[in-house]
Amino acid sequence: ALVLSLTACAGEGAGSTSEETGAAGGDGGEKSVGVAMPTETSERWIADGNAVKEGLEGAGYTVDLQYAGDDIPTQSQQIDQMITKGVDLLIVASIDGTALSSQLQAAADAGIPVIAYDRLIRDTENVDHYVTFDNYKVGVQQATSLLVGLGLQTADGAEGTATGPFNVELFAGSLDDNNAHFFWDGAYDTLKPFIDSGKIVVPSGQTTIEQAATLRWLQETAQKRMEDLLTGSYSGGEKVDGVLSPYDGISRGIITALQNAGYGSGDSKMPIITGQDAEIASVKLIRDGVQFATIFKDTRKLAAQAVAASEDFLSGAEPEANDTKTYHNGVKVVPSYLLESDIVYADNIQSLLIDTEYWTEEQVASGQ
Ligand code: BGC
Repeated sequence: ALVLSLTACAGEGAGSTSEETGAAGGDGGEKSVGVAMPTETSERWIADGNAVKEGLEGAGYTVDLQYAGDDIPTQSQQIDQMITKGVDLLIVASIDGTALSSQLQAAADAGIPVIAYDRLIRDTENVDHYVTFDNYKVGVQQATSLLVGLGLQTADGAEGTATGPFNVELFAGSLDDNNAHFFWDGAYDTLKPFIDSGKIVVPSGQTTIEQAATLRWLQETAQKRMEDLLTGSYSGGEKVDGVLSPYDGISRGIITALQNAGYGSGDSKMPIITGQDAEIASVKLIRDGVQFATIFKDTRKLAAQAVAASEDFLSGAEPEANDTKTYHNGVKVVPSYLLESDIVYADNIQSLLIDTEYWTEEQVASGQ
């Protein structure tokens, strides 16, 4: 509540300032940027919001940063208000990528450029630029970490010594998030040859993204589905060997369900479990050998890219794109800037996360 009221005040200030100076159009004038983020329940979006805000303020803009509590009408309303207040640019990480068409029409009518942040905004021509990671590759990396953990592949891509068959269950993200489909496609394409050859078996038979989906990426929803899978397909003494999970919060839900069923104690090994975002609680779980891997997407780099694109738009230039064919949003291909991600295993937490000052050694040790 504190954060919201503070940003609300900042937002009002930003609105009136930009109205006063907007007409002058000089480059010295204070311009303002509305930043709409989905939720504070996942720590990556807090890091994203803070880094974008800091970067934009450092570049001389005022910032109205809002979180929507993963509620679609709240996000629509926040964006409406930003437009009414007269922001000069919008940066939006959408909750439902298809739900913002009327807001973005209003933005276009007011001449406000829109940057889609991390998640593509779909079904509108009124999105001007997209900054994100190579989301298909993130999915490939998730599946690769699963294969490495099972011993079916080595970390440098060679064939592993294990032959299976391994029992694996598959989880996907929220279907209204365009990224969930890219993660799934990258992961499924990577696992498919192993499923086809019988080295990987999916005992539940749930192998479509619709069956595997987790609405709003919720940990509790994933825990419940894992419990149901255990009851439905593993009650005859079969063991789960691996779980493809697209996000660390989902991984923690899966882990809780497995631990409640006795995995990870006595001689019952934890299955190989993947993740995404390098959330601190999960990095500790990886260090402790409970979760096997996660995907590190450096939100500082994404924020810096969004800030650079903002500066371009606000000075009348076209932001740099390094991909102009992948992200068709249903209406058009949105010019995109894609960043690279890394697989985090226990043995590279130090080099990827601590040496780069993403997390401190103390945070990794405590999980907080
Ligand atoms: C992001 C992921 C994140 C997920 C859940 C996706 O759109 O790309 O980094 O794990 O949303 O918040």
